[in-house]
Amino acid sequence: MIEDTMDYLEPQSREKFEELLAYNMRHKKWVGLILTGSEITLHRDLPELAKAAKQSGFKHVRIQSHGMHLGKEEYCTKLIESGVDEFFISVAAADAQSHDEITQVQGSFNKTLQGMKNIDRWKHAISITNTVVTKESYKQLPLVVDALAHLKNLVQMEFWFYWPMSGKDDKSLLAPHLEMLPYLKEAVRKAQSLGRRVEIKNFPQCLLGEYKNLLVNGQPQLFIDPIFWREFEKNGFYQCKHRDKCESNECLGLNSAYIERYGWEEEILIPQSNS
Ligand code: SF4
Repeated sequence: MIEDTMDYLEPQSREKFEELLAYNMRHKKWVGLILTGSEITLHRDLPELAKAAKQSGFKHVRIQSHGMHLGKEEYCTKLIESGVDEFFISVAAADAQSHDEITQVQGSFNKTLQGMKNIDRWKHAISITNTVVTKESYKQLPLVVDALAHLKNLVQMEFWFYWPMSGKDDKSLLAPHLEMLPYLKEAVRKAQSLGRRVEIKNFPQCLLGEYKNLLVNGQPQLFIDPIFWREFEKNGFYQCKHRDKCESNECLGLNSAYIERYGWEEEILIPQSNS
C-alpha cells in the first residue's frame, strides 16, 4: 500500500531514534517499539537498534517485515538474541504460486514461511501475520489460515483491506465488500478456532456482524516523515452516507477510491448505535 511513497520518504535519523529511547527511559511512556520501513530487515544496523531499544527499557521490540530474510536461521537468531521478540509478517496468500505472484518475487513464500518456522523455535518470540485483502487475495483468506495452522508462535492474524493512498484505485486492487465478506468471515472463524486473536482494518463495521468488535483501526504513535500524512490524506477516509446517524467510533467508513469504483453502498450499510 505504501510502495509508491517508499522511494522518497526520508527515514528517521539515528539522532531522533536515540532521543526517543532517552525520552522513554525517563518517562516510561511506551512498553513496545515497532521498527518498520520499506523493509526494515535491509537495515544493516537492525540488531544494534533492537539491542539499544531493549537496553533503554522497551519491554517488546517488534519488526514489520515481509519475513524473507528471517528464512536464514542465523539472521533470525541474531535478531531474536538482540531483543526482537515480535514479528509482524506480511503473508500475501496461502501458497507459493499465489503469494509469489502478488509479491512478484519468486521464492518469497517459501522464504517467509521458513522465517516463521525459525521464529517458532523460540519460546519467547511471537509472530503476527497481516494479509492485505485485495481483489487478488480475498479468496485466499481462509486458506491462509489453514496454511499457517501448524505455527505455534503465531498468536494473531490481521486482515487489512487495501487502501490505495490515492483517490483512485489506480492498481485495480479493490473488490466489493460483499464479495469479500464470506471469505473474511470464514478466515476469522478458522483463526479463532485455532485460538488466535484476529484484527480487521478498514472494513465497514456494520457489515462485520458478530465480528464487529474485531475492527481495530487504531495505529501506534508513528514517527515518520511528515510527507507521509500528505499522501495518507489522499485516501479520503471517513466517508459514508450514514455518517451523521452512525455512532461507530471505530469505523473509517469508505474511502474515495472505493466510492469511485463501487459507489456509496448506502443500501447495504447500516448506521450503528452505541446504546
Ligand atoms: S454506516 Fe457507515 S460509518 Fe457506520 S459502520 Fe457502516 S460504513 Fe461505518
